[in-house]
Amino acid sequence: MQYVSTRGGVPAASYSEIVLQGLARDGGLFVPKVYPQVSKETLKNWRGLSYAQLATAVTSLFAKDMQRSDIARLCETTYTPEVYCHGREGTDFKKIAPVVWLENDFGILELSNGPTLAFKDMAMQYLGSLFEFVLARKETRLNILGATSGDTGSAAEYAMKGREGIQVFMLSPAGRMSKFQKAQMYSLQDKNIFNIAVQGSFDDAQDIVKAVSGDLTFKTEHHIGAVNSINWARIAAQVIYYFSAWLQATESEDEEVTFSVPSGNFGDVLAGWIAKQMGLPVARLIVATNENDVLYEFFRSGRYRIRDSAHTFVTSSPSMDISKASNFERYIYDITGRNPERVVELWTELAQKKEFLLNAEEWAAVKASGFTASRSTHADRLACIKRVWDQYGFLVDPHTADGINAAVKERIPGVKTICLETALPAKFAATIKEAVGFEPPVPAGYEDLLEKPQKVLEMPADAQLVKNFLAEHDVGK
Ligand SMILES: *Cc1c(COP(=O)(O)O)cnc(C)c1O
Repeated sequence: MQYVSTRGGVPAASYSEIVLQGLARDGGLFVPKVYPQVSKETLKNWRGLSYAQLATAVTSLFAKDMQRSDIARLCETTYTPEVYCHGREGTDFKKIAPVVWLENDFGILELSNGPTLAFKDMAMQYLGSLFEFVLARKETRLNILGATSGDTGSAAEYAMKGREGIQVFMLSPAGRMSKFQKAQMYSLQDKNIFNIAVQGSFDDAQDIVKAVSGDLTFKTEHHIGAVNSINWARIAAQVIYYFSAWLQATESEDEEVTFSVPSGNFGDVLAGWIAKQMGLPVARLIVATNENDVLYEFFRSGRYRIRDSAHTFVTSSPSMDISKASNFERYIYDITGRNPERVVELWTELAQKKEFLLNAEEWAAVKASGFTASRSTHADRLACIKRVWDQYGFLVDPHTADGINAAVKERIPGVKTICLETALPAKFAATIKEAVGFEPPVPAGYEDLLEKPQKVLEMPADAQLVKNFLAEHDVGK
């Protein structure tokens, strides 16, 4: 299994070569040269596997240059009920990512029972073990530079803290995250974790990461790596739970399932697209957005029009406050018939005009791809949280509410629909209180989080300042 760049400008490379890199050197994203295929027969054989066994089977398809025994060890130590145990009382944590059915044909895929109470732990905890493993083998170190709108940062820090040979430099938009999110990240006192609050939006922070990683001399000298959702190993690890959810939902290999996915950087729903490309019977992928509706607009019109930070709203589903979806290029690559010249053309246009419009043939490919989209407002979100609580006694976070709201509008009658739960309500107490009139339950062990001392450095949104800081704190070898 070889990986190529969506822009076609770098030699093919293996899984363990690309997992430590962020963007490819030509500015593109790594994708498998061909998607591995999973037959109905194999799907049938996967019924009854534990989550860790399923993770091993799926990862083995992507990580052809790793020993299966090594993959199995990483998966068996990552996907345990001890790591994924922070969800609702009464949850079957042994399943790691259980589907809970609110109705016979409408379920919630619980992905947020990991240490930071968001779905990003599903891939990130694995990434922590994988990085340590790969770095030890290569006898090298890694300075992880990332940008977060709230949940990536904490998931990365909890996965990497205390790990050998790894430091984390995490940029977050100053003042734009929930109290709980800030406390989770900034209360970490580990020596290898550096929190930097950037005076700007998430997109400003992400632009700095791109600028620093784009300086190839600096990147090489300081061993800069990425854990943002463009990291291929993360995407591949997210593919696993689509298979797991489908296996829980169906009894026949011919049954299709719809997934509704609260979306921002398009990583989570991209994993669903890849699962579908691999042969998983997926009827529809619903992209749920909030008021930052770049993706909604695209799936309605074929026009991808990014916004600047002044036009990115601060919403009550903040982890989706994104106006430039960093994984989108991987999907467009497939839509263009995997044509790197066309991807370069579209992204050049995007850089110049801040938008592109697909041609008729590409738009037809989008329509045939099974995607639909829906957008929610603050009022929709509140109403949905309240309705789901009143009707089912199930409390959902604002992002998951956007997903449910979209599912209700876009699902196909008669087809089982599963909404991905991307965070637990405890992370967004203020919005939950506004919706239902009471604060969400705080999981055991998190009671005093907000009172813990915090460690964070605030900086103007300036790539050079971040470089200077990183160079000063790079431990070297
Ligand atoms: C990251 C995140 C999302 C968006 O996921 P993408 O992969 O960026 O599309 C949605 N909800 C929550 C709670 C998140 O943390």
